[in-house]
Amino acid sequence: MRPREFDADIAVVGLGAMGANAAWRLAERGLNVIGIERFHPGHVLGSSHGKTRVFRVACLEHPNLVPLARRSRELWTTLQDLSGTPVIRNTGAVMIGPESSEVISGTLAAATAHDLPITRLTRNELQQRFPQHQNLAPDHVGIWDPEAGVVHPEAGISAAVDAARAAGATIYTDTKVTGIELIDGGVVVTTPTGRFTVAQVVVTTGAWLNKLVPNLPLTPLRTPMMWFEPADKNDPSFRLESFPTFIRAVDADNWIWGHGSGDGFAVKVGPDRDPNFREVDPDTIDRGISPVDWRLVSELVSKALPGLNPVPVLTTTCMVTHSPDGHFQIGRPYDDPRLIVGGGCSGHAFKHASGIGELIAQIACGEEPFVDLAFVDPNRFLRGQDRGLAYRPRYIESRA
Ligand SMILES: Cc1cc2nc3c(=O)[nH]c(=O)nc-3n(C[C@H](O)[C@H](O)[C@H](O)COP(=O)(O)OP(=O)(O)OC[C@H]3O[C@@H](n4cnc5c(N)ncnc54)[C@H](O)[C@@H]3O)c2cc1C
Repeated sequence: MRPREFDADIAVVGLGAMGANAAWRLAERGLNVIGIERFHPGHVLGSSHGKTRVFRVACLEHPNLVPLARRSRELWTTLQDLSGTPVIRNTGAVMIGPESSEVISGTLAAATAHDLPITRLTRNELQQRFPQHQNLAPDHVGIWDPEAGVVHPEAGISAAVDAARAAGATIYTDTKVTGIELIDGGVVVTTPTGRFTVAQVVVTTGAWLNKLVPNLPLTPLRTPMMWFEPADKNDPSFRLESFPTFIRAVDADNWIWGHGSGDGFAVKVGPDRDPNFREVDPDTIDRGISPVDWRLVSELVSKALPGLNPVPVLTTTCMVTHSPDGHFQIGRPYDDPRLIVGGGCSGHAFKHASGIGELIAQIACGEEPFVDLAFVDPNRFLRGQDRGLAYRPRYIESRA
């Protein structure tokens, strides 16, 4: 039982990909949940807009992501059923690169560890099945992941917020949290219009996570997004059905990822990294796009996908928040029983966000997490600080 002076069991601050799902999974468990979002669910100012995100199960980044992706797929499907709106779509995905590249070796490691139903493709088979991919290097091979596809971020977040509300959560939108104070036995969450005293707080503010939990090692990067059209606009071979999700190591230094067009979205292609991705303050990010932003991806499209017009038809800015080791930061910093964070998306967390919401709910409720969380535990970075700086977040205040 929570003490009578508490306004709720738990507050979730930031209802983007991770927070909306955390609020839903917590409310489903019967907790009294307050969810607070600075803008509105499905907005275009954070990290979760742009109509689609690549969904993969054979995750090359870490084998432990496989069970997370599978649970996420179940939960996205539930949200799709609840909302009656497309949230997740199975297209399969092809990984392309040399045998030694991380694209191939990482995918293979995940598939082998979990006995996934992948298919290996020779260069010839790649050319036959996916002729849109041109100029394959002589040593390029492929892996087909039949469980992959795309997720729709705005629809997924809106569905999760609606599901949280339907399960009893109280949702505040257009409300910025300006302070989080850890007090004896609880937390005080401050907004311009009120203060909430709760037993626990979940902070899932994406690129803004450091503004409220300042000591986590996170780097928000300005990451432009681009969409393309076939050179021949009537060419159907770049529709999602025939041009499914892919990751391709074009050369040793450059990967591209993307997928074909569908109802309401064009062909999407992005670079894995670009020297123009620069660290930003999410409150002052330059949202204007210029040709400098698409130069690298245009060059890679010209080389790898010459059936596309290399000048994008649509662009926008987004933010990736990098963790030093490329893995998320999910858990209780300093093992504090009042605080849970979810962040450090490192450019690949949307697909997992519904499963991350479930993990956050499990942490909050003291359940056994369905995935071993050691590789995403924020304390892997904080332990050194405990020794060196002896810093503990007794009082956290917004720097915004
Ligand atoms: C260009 C690009 C391509 C990507 N491609 C893929 C992909 O193909 N597949 C994939 O899985 N992932 C991909 N990602 C990564 C994925 O989109 C992110 O991992 C995910 O969206 C991060 O979710 P989040 O919940 O951490 O942040 P967000 O969804 O941005 O949520 C944070 C929320 O907190 C709110 N907030 C901030 N401060 C406050 C405050 N003080 N008070 C209240 N609310 C606050 C914000 O308004 C926001 O709604 C991509 C990212 C980018 C940028």
